[in-house]
Amino acid sequence: MEMKIGSHVSMKAPDYLLGSVQEMVFYGANCMMIYTGPPQNTRRQPVDKMKVIEAKKQLQELGIGMDHIIVHAPYIINLGNVENEATFQLGVDFLKQEIERTKAIGASVIVLHPGSYVRATQPEGIQRIIDGLNQVFKTHQGVYIALETMAGKGSEIGRNFEEIQKIIQGVKHNEWLKVCMDTCHLHDSGRDLADFDSILAEFDSMIGLERLACIHINDSKNVQGAMKDRHENIGYGEIGFEVLNTIVHHPLLKNTVKILETPYIGENPPYKMEIENFVNQQFVPFKSNE
Ligand code: FE
Ligand code: FE
Ligand code: ZN
Repeated sequence: MEMKIGSHVSMKAPDYLLGSVQEMVFYGANCMMIYTGPPQNTRRQPVDKMKVIEAKKQLQELGIGMDHIIVHAPYIINLGNVENEATFQLGVDFLKQEIERTKAIGASVIVLHPGSYVRATQPEGIQRIIDGLNQVFKTHQGVYIALETMAGKGSEIGRNFEEIQKIIQGVKHNEWLKVCMDTCHLHDSGRDLADFDSILAEFDSMIGLERLACIHINDSKNVQGAMKDRHENIGYGEIGFEVLNTIVHHPLLKNTVKILETPYIGENPPYKMEIENFVNQQFVPFKSNE
């Protein structure tokens, strides 16, 4: 399998990163995305407990490079918060720590939701995010922050390439900024994924394809433009298998890491089957009833 595909995997006691690698292997994947701890809070274990050496040894045996490992920052970071200085500062400080942890793990990309402006305006929110990233990069560099394209729920920033472009233009050390596309979010924000070539062309002219760090591959529970952000299993949503399969196998994205973030089916992760379907380029349903 030459394409780079995987899913988000857990990282938990007792095996941490080694356990994540084993989970990735179980799915038949060669990429993975991890949270350095619970995505909803800031409690983190020290990296020296995370079995990084053992995990790296296993990755090496598998011939998988550290560029196949993506970190996702927790949701509680909101650099767009204009109203609450403490929340904003917590985001800045925590992002700095995430950069340290990501370096210690040996990965080089952190996916970040740009932020929400809550009770303020969109330009104020964008400026706040720029200020936050400038603070972070002033002292902490060496790891890329990949801004995720968002669905546009509430006051979320990153609902279109213009907003992402504005952030990149405002950040001094923007050589450390990358972008993570999310198919569910693009669809929910109003884009027609069936015409992915024009999305890529627009991305290339506004942001530059070289800034694309990874793509989240998700189907969507909602219609195009719903601004909802509810992920669906591949082939069960409004985007559909054929369109997502075309994106996964797109020649321009051959070297781009693709990460599934689709929902579990009851207790069971769907990733092994979803990856198999993409490898075979054939949709075999796996949900018996719902
Ligand atoms: Fe995300
Ligand atoms: Fe995502
Ligand atoms: Zn989402």
